[in-house]
Amino acid sequence: MIPFDQAFDIVMNAARPIGTERIRIEQALNRILAEDIASDMDIPPFDKAAMDGYACCRADLGRELTVVETIAAGAAPTQSIGEAQCAKIMTGAAVPKGADCVIAVEFTEQLSEQTIRFTGKHTADNICLRAEDIKSGQIILSKGEKIQPEHIAVLATVGCVEPLVARQPRVGIIATGDELVEPSARPGSSQIRNSNSYQLAAQVAKMGAIPRYYGIAKDTNAAIDALLNKAVEESDVVLLSGGVSMGDLDLVPGILKNNKIKLLFENVAIKPGKPTVFGLSENIFCFGLPGNPVSTFVVFEILIKPFLYKMMGHDFRPASIRAPLAKTISLRRTDRDTFMPVTLTDNGTVAPMDYHGSADISAMCGADGLIRIPAGINELCEGTLVHIRTI
Ligand code: AMP
Ligand code: MG
Repeated sequence: MIPFDQAFDIVMNAARPIGTERIRIEQALNRILAEDIASDMDIPPFDKAAMDGYACCRADLGRELTVVETIAAGAAPTQSIGEAQCAKIMTGAAVPKGADCVIAVEFTEQLSEQTIRFTGKHTADNICLRAEDIKSGQIILSKGEKIQPEHIAVLATVGCVEPLVARQPRVGIIATGDELVEPSARPGSSQIRNSNSYQLAAQVAKMGAIPRYYGIAKDTNAAIDALLNKAVEESDVVLLSGGVSMGDLDLVPGILKNNKIKLLFENVAIKPGKPTVFGLSENIFCFGLPGNPVSTFVVFEILIKPFLYKMMGHDFRPASIRAPLAKTISLRRTDRDTFMPVTLTDNGTVAPMDYHGSADISAMCGADGLIRIPAGINELCEGTLVHIRTI
């Protein structure tokens, strides 16, 4: 059994870059940028009115102003503003030469068809200066960024319609267990429904990789071997659930070894998730996950998700919130780091989920995140500040 941090380092150091492709920005949401993006122009590209109003010279604010033209957004000014002159201007239009401020229309009075007066006391400039947001050539998005809607806006702004992004790892998913039936079936006596595969596929898809489900393998060498070989052929990473602990029919580690997949660890000092297995060969990475659904869920979150992101060149940092415990937590066993599902209460405290162990996946449904209680600690008192890793 190795400590979690060591297992994490082994997994992260093993990650290989997955390669890149160009895609359209319409398809870029949640993809990982694989190049730095420089702006091809100044933003704003010209001094721009930030208000609907009148562009004039600040020195003339106390005077009657003659309106020399109207400048709409998208139109170029045709003349510069001279003494006691102004131009009616719309938000987003180019400010004419000679003007150094835009007075908002609300603070003006129309004196005649062609003259106005400023009625306010002070005014801001109300001009967005050329290049004040982004300078031409400036790097505005960096390699490794996870593309969100705001990044897509920036890409569009600088004309990058086909960004280079990381390929998405293809993740094969296999369930093992004689007791499993598919969710559409009614389980017979001594059977349960396969939930792990669908949960894992959703976890994979949610983070931006591509899941592919290969079915349920019976607990025999031949059945697991057949699905494993198919999945290895078509995937970058294979996740197997079940069959990794100490039972007579926990065959997965042996089968991985027989398939020339070198196991880098077989047990990790975490609860839940201890029998987690990680192995690799030249063309595949395999994770064997304990079958209990909460274990599968947690191990994906803390180990596999950061690994898949690393393959895509993204440094995944789970969002962390610090808040006090709503009640004292006591642990019976302290030989492993515990990852405990918790919820954030309305008064800003952290309450452990009431759950019956690692088979109780319904308890995860109300959880906002996980807290990590290091090995050796058997009690955390009410009020202790803890970090919640959000899920
Ligand atoms: P195992 O890791 O194979 O010893 O399984 C541990 C527990 O998880 C057993 O109670 C299994 O029935 C259950 N389990 C295994 N695979 C799945 C699955 N795909 N979906 C739901 N529960 C499972
Ligand atoms: Mg099993």
